[in-house]
Amino acid sequence: MATDRTHPVVVIPGDGIGPEITEATIRVLEATGVTYTWRETLAGEAARVRHGHPLPEETLTAIRNVGVALKGPLLAPKQTGRITIRQADGSEVTYPSVNNALRRELEVFANVRPVKSFAGVRSPFPRLDVVIMREVTEDTYIGWEEMKGPDEAWAIKRITRRASERIFRYAFAYARRNGRAKVTAGHKANVLNLTDGLFLQCGRDVAAAYPDMIFDDCMVDALCLRLVTQPELVDVLVLPNQYGDILSDLCGGIAGSLGLAPGANVGDAVSFFEASHGAAPDIAGRGIANPIALILSGAMLLDHLGEMNAAARVRAAAASVLQEGRWLTPDLGGVANTAELTRAVVGAL
Ligand code: ATP
Repeated sequence: MATDRTHPVVVIPGDGIGPEITEATIRVLEATGVTYTWRETLAGEAARVRHGHPLPEETLTAIRNVGVALKGPLLAPKQTGRITIRQADGSEVTYPSVNNALRRELEVFANVRPVKSFAGVRSPFPRLDVVIMREVTEDTYIGWEEMKGPDEAWAIKRITRRASERIFRYAFAYARRNGRAKVTAGHKANVLNLTDGLFLQCGRDVAAAYPDMIFDDCMVDALCLRLVTQPELVDVLVLPNQYGDILSDLCGGIAGSLGLAPGANVGDAVSFFEASHGAAPDIAGRGIANPIALILSGAMLLDHLGEMNAAARVRAAAASVLQEGRWLTPDLGGVANTAELTRAVVGAL
């Protein structure tokens, strides 16, 4: 049963395959019977063309006002993606990429990425079921880089107790709420003694308040090995920003495709929902993108709106279509297109 509320939701179609998978996701979300007022706004290349800036003030204002958004992926150009945003007091802040700017301007702090394998999808690990909790406000991704002459470049890695404790508190609360037993901190504290050392220590400090949960830690290199050999040993995984970015793709790969891994960016006032993958320009416009990651991000959005029943139905419909195996997109080894897979999920609903 859907509630009888109408939910305002901002939609950012995004770049590359973004508009295709966003349209697919809206069709599925509407098929649940939940009602929405979609407010489309632009970011990325479309915003640069229309407004002369990849992240216009009106986009940020729309999301802040509504508090919830469904977002397609945005292109992150290599080496040239830095963007500057004017603040309310007239000062300017420069961010390393548009995705980074969006997360930090909206003050989200946790990027939650549940990655699991599905019956019907080839994966070396049919029991993969990991939730990545990526801290998204700091680490090397603050973008404080500097050339020290023509042949030397420096980057600052920033870790604070405040942000680290916040992500661990969120991870433990999430784990308890979702019936998960173990939280693992990923780090490289044997080399980065101070920064990753502080991150790890914050994990231990927060874990002390959750005696019912198992807490352990693992060096990020050993974690990669564990994920590709015994992923069933990993449950909720808390990572600083950069490792979280990298291990998300690794987990998507071992689940069978990047096109299966959804994501939520969670803050105190604003949350927005996006697939773990990028804009996939190599397949954009061909109608063959896998929409499942964004559809499952839509299920996370429904949970956030309090529409748990509809969320569960979307997950079940997606899982049954994958299991049936008839409407798989090429990334999953099939020959179906985005529209056919979407139609099958709507049909299953
Ligand atoms: P970013 O750095 O912005 O996250 P990326 O460099 O990791 O992006 P992606 O855009 O995620 O790259 O694409 C990586 C590969 O995965 C590409 O070959 C792309 O076609 C494929 N891919 C990503 N998402 C999907 C999807 N939804 N359906 C099918 N293939 C996908």
